[in-house]
Amino acid sequence: MLRLSDLALPLDHPPEALEAAIATRLGILPGEIESVTTVRRGNDARKKSAIKLIYTLDVALTNEAEVLARHAGDPHVRPTPDTTYQHPVHAPEGWSGERPVVIGAGPCGLLAALILAQMGLRPIIIERGKAVRERTKDTWGLWRQGVLDAESNAQFGEGGAGTFSDGKLYSRIKDPRHLGRKVLTEFVKAGAPEDILTEAHPHVGTFRLVTMVISIRETIESLGGEYRFGTRVEDFEVETDADGERHLSGLHLSDGSVLAARHVIMAVGHSARDTFHRLHDRGIFMEAKPFAIGVRIEHPQGWIDTARFGPCAGNPILGAASYALSHKSQNGRTVYSFCMCPGGRVVAATSEEGRVVTNGMSQYSRAEFNANSALVVDIDPTRDYPGGPLAGIAFQRHWESLAFTAGGSDYKAPGQKVSDLLAGRASSGDFGAVVPSYQPGVKLTDLSLCLPDYVIESLREALPVFGRQIRGYDHPDVVMTGVEARTSSPVRITRGADLQSLNTRGLYPAGEGAGYAGGILSAAVDGIRVAEALGQVLVSA
Ligand SMILES: Cc1cc2nc3c(=O)[nH]c(=O)nc-3n(C[C@H](O)[C@H](O)[C@H](O)COP(=O)(O)OP(=O)(O)OC[C@H]3O[C@@H](n4cnc5c(N)ncnc54)[C@H](O)[C@@H]3O)c2cc1C
Repeated sequence: MLRLSDLALPLDHPPEALEAAIATRLGILPGEIESVTTVRRGNDARKKSAIKLIYTLDVALTNEAEVLARHAGDPHVRPTPDTTYQHPVHAPEGWSGERPVVIGAGPCGLLAALILAQMGLRPIIIERGKAVRERTKDTWGLWRQGVLDAESNAQFGEGGAGTFSDGKLYSRIKDPRHLGRKVLTEFVKAGAPEDILTEAHPHVGTFRLVTMVISIRETIESLGGEYRFGTRVEDFEVETDADGERHLSGLHLSDGSVLAARHVIMAVGHSARDTFHRLHDRGIFMEAKPFAIGVRIEHPQGWIDTARFGPCAGNPILGAASYALSHKSQNGRTVYSFCMCPGGRVVAATSEEGRVVTNGMSQYSRAEFNANSALVVDIDPTRDYPGGPLAGIAFQRHWESLAFTAGGSDYKAPGQKVSDLLAGRASSGDFGAVVPSYQPGVKLTDLSLCLPDYVIESLREALPVFGRQIRGYDHPDVVMTGVEARTSSPVRITRGADLQSLNTRGLYPAGEGAGYAGGILSAAVDGIRVAEALGQVLVSA
């Protein structure tokens, strides 16, 4: 089998044109092609009047070796890599060693637990939130009635932070072992649409994510894993060995029990602020890390489709258009779009009372009226929140609390129209061409009440620039809501080459909360990596 990449065809090409294009590209006769499998399909919309589909294909030929030899040195024609996943170890039959513990059932914890279960290690999964169906009701409770359950919400509960999301499943991580493929394959087994294996920018949407999470749980349980929902890890016991090395020995749980645990994957996500404080109290090494803060911005999806796809807007092959924008502003800050959700809605994503945090989600169809995206500005500990590893958390809390107040202290989000932000005045009155989707509602006000000056200044500079790239982006009626303060973890719980905490053996900090991932796919891949490392230690013990 050979892999042919970067093969461009017109958007509306007939199916038979694919084999003809392969034959021309490889300089062979169509009859020499035995089979064709699409590995990836993206699009190139730089020229709106001639949008192209870009394929990566696995092609079986009657004379593969000869064709490969003829194209030696061509980076787009090479042998198909082996992407099948192999577990590094398996527990021996009847293995009765120590069961590993996974804290957190987000994408990182779920994939870690799945791999451990597949290796025969029967993990115990501790999750502070509820099982996903009950969690869904609580999360919608905040969105519809303004009632927050601090342990069951958009951040906490089975499935983790990304459960009520657009479910974008791509990442820029380096992945030489094709672990992302393993994640996507497991997601398809759990009910994700098969096109996530081939689309260049796959997504699954909220509805499917919920059922996938349940299916993964059933698989883990069928392999001997065990879930404990509604159970928060409140403290960590650390022993010092005779040779002076610190080793994790137990976990204090919210039900009052202590779980003996010497091998623990900690995948608690970026919102487990109480857990970060406790880890710090126990001397576990961590450091402050950069993240970003800003707003969610909404436009009618039709404006984005037209700007991106021109006359091809609405073509079902292309789907709803997305965008990625970036601008270096004069104050030295970079403003960029992040976590763009085509045809979706802005959601309330706080896990703490008296705070407002925005984020975005979509269904698989991406058919809702508005597009939304985070529009954020980079910040870092040296410049913006000096004061130790936990200072970024205090920074987030400060602006999230001000957003709560600016929104009217009832979980509405503060919002402002672009025209008013640019003119430096508060918004009031009615919405215009853009009606924001955030529930339980948006209060028009002045976003400078709840964002640092440099963020407002950077947004003012960037919006007209982005308006020149996407027509309508800086339309006067476009609404921004805030604050988007949980873009990634404010801390890194640093680990060594063995993927264990730098100063506490047996603790494997992982995923987004530990600062090693920035989305669903990268968190899940990190979960596999730590599960493999832990599995090898346990099985060889
Ligand atoms: C609304 C929303 C939309 C998003 N959309 C996307 C998207 O489309 N694509 C994308 O790639 N990313 C998206 N993200 C980001 C993505 O969800 C995260 O990057 C990802 O979930 C991180 O995975 P994780 O497993 O590391 O942590 P999390 O998913 O945060 O999971 C951590 C889990 O640990 C549990 N936990 C925390 N503390 C404790 C404790 N002390 N004891 C027991 N359990 C604990 C939590 O309840 C939670 O379930 C979105 C996030 C949100 C909030």
